[in-house]
Amino acid sequence: MHPTDFTLAGAVAALEEGVISAEELTRAHVEAVEALNPRLNALITVTADQAMEAARASDARRKRGEAGPLEGIPLAIKDLFCTEGVQTTAGSKILEGFIPPYESTVTSQLKRDGAVFLGKANLDEFAMGSSNLTSAYGGVLNPWSRRNDPDARLVPGGSSGGSAAAVAARMALGATGTDTGGSIRQPAAFCGIAGIKPTYGRCSRFGIVAYASSLDQAGPFGRTVEDCAILLRSMAGFDPKDSTSADRPVPDFAAACGRSVKGLRIGVPREYHMDGMPAEIEKLWRQGLDWLREAGAEIVDISLPHARYALPTYYIVAPAEASSNLARYDGVRFGKRVAEPNSDLRDLYERTRAAGFGAEVRRRIMIGTYVLSAGYYDAYYLKAQKVRALIARDFREAWSKVDAILAPATPSAAFAEGENSDDPVQMYLNDVFTVTANLAGLPGLSVPAGLDPQGLPLGLQVLGRPFDEETVFAVGAALERAADFRALPGMRAGA
Ligand code: GLN
Repeated sequence: MHPTDFTLAGAVAALEEGVISAEELTRAHVEAVEALNPRLNALITVTADQAMEAARASDARRKRGEAGPLEGIPLAIKDLFCTEGVQTTAGSKILEGFIPPYESTVTSQLKRDGAVFLGKANLDEFAMGSSNLTSAYGGVLNPWSRRNDPDARLVPGGSSGGSAAAVAARMALGATGTDTGGSIRQPAAFCGIAGIKPTYGRCSRFGIVAYASSLDQAGPFGRTVEDCAILLRSMAGFDPKDSTSADRPVPDFAAACGRSVKGLRIGVPREYHMDGMPAEIEKLWRQGLDWLREAGAEIVDISLPHARYALPTYYIVAPAEASSNLARYDGVRFGKRVAEPNSDLRDLYERTRAAGFGAEVRRRIMIGTYVLSAGYYDAYYLKAQKVRALIARDFREAWSKVDAILAPATPSAAFAEGENSDDPVQMYLNDVFTVTANLAGLPGLSVPAGLDPQGLPLGLQVLGRPFDEETVFAVGAALERAADFRALPGMRAGA
């Protein structure tokens, strides 16, 4: 068996049994990165030497009997997490060359538990996008291809496109992502892997470049639901450095993957049946419900009456918060600076921001500034906040009737570069099934569950009560067992 064929859980066991060393495991993944990254562009920064050094240190720790739960496991880190001494770009030119002097809480916990970092994964600029095409460092190629059009360049989804592509192509055993409106669940679905956005507050946001602070959450990607559960346990936990992080115990999520779904009530939101939804998405959704029914769950129709306002609400709240968060990139304290010899402060700001931000980020800053401006605040931002509260209330009512909700992850399989990109609104429609969970702060897991007629992966999404990731994992693992998804992308290590 090639070392890149392990699941993360399998690699943990193999390392424990001494079947493989961290050095061997990491070398195989470094070689996979070297072979595949020139084509996939999944990583912006490759830290091969540091990874090999970390792997040797990990083997030494294991010898001393000090192995952590992720001891020697090679991971890719979305380039939105600050990593001490390693360039962190957020996919933007404005942060090119920025070397953080500190480590994000999530990545420091992964390191604490023994993980080895292979490099920083590509993403949409400041995590704004659904295709990874807004990255200032170029798009990421999806390792899957269409059966009838193998040369079409498919997107991996976004914004965590590099993380998802790296895991799908077996360049890494797992990866971190962030999800503000779907950026873990949508790329997971497009790349045929699992990914979870935990409850808002479950993982610390400290040291993650902020997009929309009330929506951003970190979470893992894995090739299996259990792999995600193992990673999330290390990533989660209270952090006094993030005032929105939740002071709650972190359960053994992997154990929850083995729980039965017998007797669980699974909600099907009526409003998620949408006109124009591709037949294969409807079919997969029905299939998912059948699988859960066969596993002993009860399927319950529910209504989320305000769900149809989620997308417009999200595209007011997220840009509003982004316009405020991104004000800090001014060329004064860190990152890029563009000035003429006689520039005054305002000229410095304008030149730096004009040169540093891409088109999509500028669009969001303008929309966000507009909806927060004196004349429009009540009409847009305040209204959106009220609708957000109604969306959250719909879910609270639903939780009195059901234990989890099943929905599609995305309205389509991966699309090709160039499709969906003439009209930004067309691109925003990708997020129709994912943004509700962010607006309501709920956990959401995407599980690969089937293929479309072109042989591309499709995902199902499980939503749960706040801080009940365990039920979400149990339902996700049940779907995974029933779907028995074994298809592999054409472009992967060892292929
Ligand atoms: N596609 C959504 C957006 O562009 C979500 C991005 C994300 O979750 N970071 O805002």
